[in-house]
Amino acid sequence: MMKDKKYLLIPGPTQVPPRVVEAMSRPIIGHRSAEFQGVVERVTGKLKKVFQTENHVFILGSSGTGALEAAVANLVNPGDKVLALSCGKFGERFRDLAKIYGGEVDFVDFGWGYDIDLNIVKKKLEENPDIKVVLATQNETSTGVQNDIEGLGKLVAQYEAVLAVDAVSGLAAIDLKTDEWHVDVVVSGSQKAFMLPPGLAFVSVSDKAWKKIEQNTSPKYYFDLLKAKKSIAKWNTAYTTPVTMVYGLEAALDMILEEGLDNVFARHKLLAKATRAAIQGLGLELLAPEDCASMAVTAVQAPMVVDADTLRKVLLRDYGVTFAGGQDMMKGKIFRIAHMGFADKMDVIIAISALEMALGKCGYKAELGAGVREAQMVFVGGDHA
Ligand SMILES: *Cc1c(COP(=O)(O)O)cnc(C)c1O
Repeated sequence: MMKDKKYLLIPGPTQVPPRVVEAMSRPIIGHRSAEFQGVVERVTGKLKKVFQTENHVFILGSSGTGALEAAVANLVNPGDKVLALSCGKFGERFRDLAKIYGGEVDFVDFGWGYDIDLNIVKKKLEENPDIKVVLATQNETSTGVQNDIEGLGKLVAQYEAVLAVDAVSGLAAIDLKTDEWHVDVVVSGSQKAFMLPPGLAFVSVSDKAWKKIEQNTSPKYYFDLLKAKKSIAKWNTAYTTPVTMVYGLEAALDMILEEGLDNVFARHKLLAKATRAAIQGLGLELLAPEDCASMAVTAVQAPMVVDADTLRKVLLRDYGVTFAGGQDMMKGKIFRIAHMGFADKMDVIIAISALEMALGKCGYKAELGAGVREAQMVFVGGDHA
């Protein structure tokens, strides 16, 4: 097989479109120049459209976790009551951050493979009116579960608490109406559905959140959002902007906005539907139930006779295909197929056809074509039914 022919199908970093790579090959200009201020103004405007917000949206030079830390460092005071809602690895990370900044954290674990139960959140907020911050994950990448952020946003809006949502792997793949749903702080990152290399993160801040941020006493320097707000008034960032990445960001945002947000979400939904149908066609079990299954990444339970990580090794060695494995308690038990960002129908077909062949090599008898056929049926609709 051809050693360099690779198919990257993990939930970040994801494939980068040629148009983005091309934009990133432009010469560097000074990050304080008038020319670059123009770029930042333009890009921020486009970013706000994807965030569906009139709030400030900041571009940070960091990975997604940096922006999660920025959210917590600016919102959580030592001793503040924090409600951390978790469905997996990234919910736990948000909790850990809140603890490190001295939050008094009430950790509600809905379990790996399950979504947030709004009835429980409502009860918590009723019983604890002193909760200052609620933390949640839009798309739990570790389990392929997506949460009802509309319901959560509208619920938390009735209380004093501010809502911060980790949308690192979900924004630009799954609808998130920041303003309409009252999500105070939305965090995302470059290397998932935004189709960029790793290195940038984004964070939006509502008026309700600014009131908390202005009174915040937690120690911070690089991630001080009040400094970011001061700089953005001059279309600058507080410290050196990753100029090249911002060029790429503009190209990616143009692609997203030209396709149209609703079409982008519909494409992700279709790819998720086809992936799930294919997996079931192979007789395998999905981790997430249908009603909360992620549009951006599908987690699959490995068959009893197959170790998920061995399967992934065979996929890479023999077919050049990379799936993600399970994290922590899911290690060896699940594998995850991403269909986010620069992904379309044939990425799903490649994923499933390689999976069918690799399963056979690992001792699971899957009928060749049984999964691919199900995916194709989703794509062609009733035409060949
Ligand atoms: C990838 C991811 C992160 C972490 O982003 P890094 O860029 O690796 O720091 C956080 N939350 C979610 C939901 C993610 O998928």
